[in-house]
Amino acid sequence: MEIKNAYLSGVYEDLKDRNGNEKEFLQAVGEVLESLEPVIEANPAYEKAGIIERIVEPERVIMFRVPWVDDSGKVRVNTGYRVQFNSAIGPYKGGLRLHPSVNLSVMKFLGFEQIFKNSLTGLPMGGGKGGSNFDPKGKSDGEVMRFCQSFMTELYRHIGADTDVPAGDIGVGAREIGFLFGQYKRITNEFTGVLTGKNVLSGGSLARTEATGYGLCYYTEEALNARGDSFKGKKVVISGSGNVATYACQKATQLGATVIAMSDSSGYIYDPNGIDYKNIQIIKEQKRARINTYLDLVPTATFTPGCAGIWNVPCDIALPCATQNELDLAGAKALIANGAIAVCEGANMPSTPEAIEAIQAAGLLFAPAKAANAGGVATSGLEMSQNSLRLSWSFDEVDQRLHGIMKNIYKSCADAAETVGKPGNLAAGANVAGFLKVAGAMLWQGVAY
Ligand code: NDP
Repeated sequence: MEIKNAYLSGVYEDLKDRNGNEKEFLQAVGEVLESLEPVIEANPAYEKAGIIERIVEPERVIMFRVPWVDDSGKVRVNTGYRVQFNSAIGPYKGGLRLHPSVNLSVMKFLGFEQIFKNSLTGLPMGGGKGGSNFDPKGKSDGEVMRFCQSFMTELYRHIGADTDVPAGDIGVGAREIGFLFGQYKRITNEFTGVLTGKNVLSGGSLARTEATGYGLCYYTEEALNARGDSFKGKKVVISGSGNVATYACQKATQLGATVIAMSDSSGYIYDPNGIDYKNIQIIKEQKRARINTYLDLVPTATFTPGCAGIWNVPCDIALPCATQNELDLAGAKALIANGAIAVCEGANMPSTPEAIEAIQAAGLLFAPAKAANAGGVATSGLEMSQNSLRLSWSFDEVDQRLHGIMKNIYKSCADAAETVGKPGNLAAGANVAGFLKVAGAMLWQGVAY
């Protein structure tokens, strides 16, 4: 990464001095600032108004203690976070992550990325993110409920349907959103659309569960079409086996591809006959089991321990859908050597900067997370609209809107990449297109934040 513009590199160096230990956050900011050089140079108003200094600083960071009692009666304590990064174009919006790796750097990188992602959807949503270092794995339903209730007992003060609307992310699915929603309602005595990803029985949107994975495939298909190609007949490797991965598997298969490998943090499965997403649903959503139990359902498949090895499986299209920095230079080189044509990001920042550079240099299609995985938050935006209207749309209606949004996001990225003289560079296009709308709103509002 090289930031040549003096204003941008000055802001970045200052940020590094003040946040030197936040490596994920600095990685996310560096990648965005590098691609903003042409727009900063074309419009001096951004520098004059301090837009970059402001956009890299969260409007508010809330950190709090989350005490809860485990099944043996012992008191446990975790750290809770909500980073309210930018509200220039709408209420803060972004998921809650429950994973032992959560820290302030991870929260800030995710919140920062969310600003541009939400802007790309075309919907009025600002950027935010939250979560805790609590690990739901191996916990009973009762323990997860007590944790979620304690977490919400502090978080409720800071959120609201017009203020900040959290959703799910790693470790936060339908079960956790239910516990969080129930506690919010109990404390405030209000039934509002304060969370998205709700059960359809309580104001959730049909197709929200599928939205991130479906959206990733819609975006990828659009980008492949622009290159005269498609999913049809392709071999696909998907890392992860959670929410995003499962429904990416379903949609890629519907679009004519064969998904031959998937993973979790323990290793990956390989099934040359094609992985049926319903088997992943059984393992992950019903049994909450490990991915190697796929072999109980499909004995002809194989399991290899170690999740990073999945990139050595020869494929046409790689969809990293697990976590940040899971695809490094070695993984990218393996994909390139095996003749892959595309890497499209379902997880947030799954590729390291070195991996992205290698993928782009080799001429593969590279679809950046903040555009390619925006279908989840876009559908959360549709859930907010339905809640405000007190209406629910059919699965097909939501899916069609999602499809239209993903096509528009692809077009915005491709057009912006052309405008800044980097045709085909969707990563640069996503950053520029996402930035322009937020920066325009910040200029218009004066020095409000
Ligand atoms: P889930 O918790 O449903 O699934 C996460 C998957 O990734 C699991 O298979 C998990 O394996 C694996 N994983 C998580 N952490 C690691 C790790 N450190 N190393 C290896 N594997 C890991 O999460 P989601 O599917 O919701 O989220 C996946 C990614 O997509 C995240 O980056 C998230 O931010 C992003 N995203 C999610 C959206 C959504 O709507 N859910 C929207 C946009 C982006 P294991 O079970 O073994 O931990």
